Amino acid sequence: MLRVQSFESYMTGGTPLRIHVILGSRAAMLVDTAMRGYEGMVSQALDFLGEHGRSLAWIVNTHAHHDHMGLNSWVQAQTDAHVVSHAWSRRWIADPVTNFQEFVLGYPELIHDTPTVRKEVFATMGPGTELDLGLVGGEHFYLGDTEVEIVDTSGHLPGEIGLLIQEDQALVLGDVLVGLDLPMFHGYVDPHRYRQSLERIRELVVTGRVTRVMTSHLPPFRGPEDILNAIADRVQFVDEIRTMILASIHEQPGTLRDIWLMVSKRHQKRPEFRGLTMVAGHLAELVWHKEVSCHQGLYQAN
Ligand SMILES: [Zn+2]
Repeated sequence: MLRVQSFESYMTGGTPLRIHVILGSRAAMLVDTAMRGYEGMVSQALDFLGEHGRSLAWIVNTHAHHDHMGLNSWVQAQTDAHVVSHAWSRRWIADPVTNFQEFVLGYPELIHDTPTVRKEVFATMGPGTELDLGLVGGEHFYLGDTEVEIVDTSGHLPGEIGLLIQEDQALVLGDVLVGLDLPMFHGYVDPHRYRQSLERIRELVVTGRVTRVMTSHLPPFRGPEDILNAIADRVQFVDEIRTMILASIHEQPGTLRDIWLMVSKRHQKRPEFRGLTMVAGHLAELVWHKEVSCHQGLYQAN
């Protein structure tokens, strides 16, 4: 039996946006709910469940970014399904205002609240939903003949999960394999945990537990080699960003703003909030490892 079915649409700029249904003999899960404007795609997924005679037991948000949870309440009103995600996601899933403020406006002196960014992020989220179950990785869901293991894939946000469908050696991911070819940094907030998550996925592949990967925005990965290459590219990317930041501070002390603009320019990325949080995450890690210190907002080499 086909256990995972993906549904795809396209975002402005041509990036795919996918959600997935995991179908068991007894129950079903919807992985992510996309965002406002994508009701058609989500309806297709719900119709698919109806055609297979299953009701939706769980809405799973891989993480609490707007394009993964924006239609939670819309789906819940139709299905009465329980909402589950990484335990960290609770506040962001419950309250779109908190979500927007902390995701986009964490550095109000550098990123301004504009109609454009409100349209891109805030307007795409419907009303919040309560998290019924907070996960951290390691939990198992039994959907009849289908067993789903939760994998901690945090780092892109402080909390993110992937779903391992054991019988299919298939792994459903949100954004942990971040997009590298976008006009802005797709980003991660915690480089240390991000590397750990990449290593965790690599381990699942090299031990033969995962041979297929489906994500929200990238083409599906079929076969271990494809997946391992994608992981290696992200590990290299994190190393490059770290090295670039450290070299620039050695050359000349700089503020978060200086370093964010330098990294964005050198990678030809639009300087915006995601890249800013990524650079701030690297700086925090460098300070933690005492390679860099920060005095009155100026980062300098130790
Ligand atoms: Zn995301």
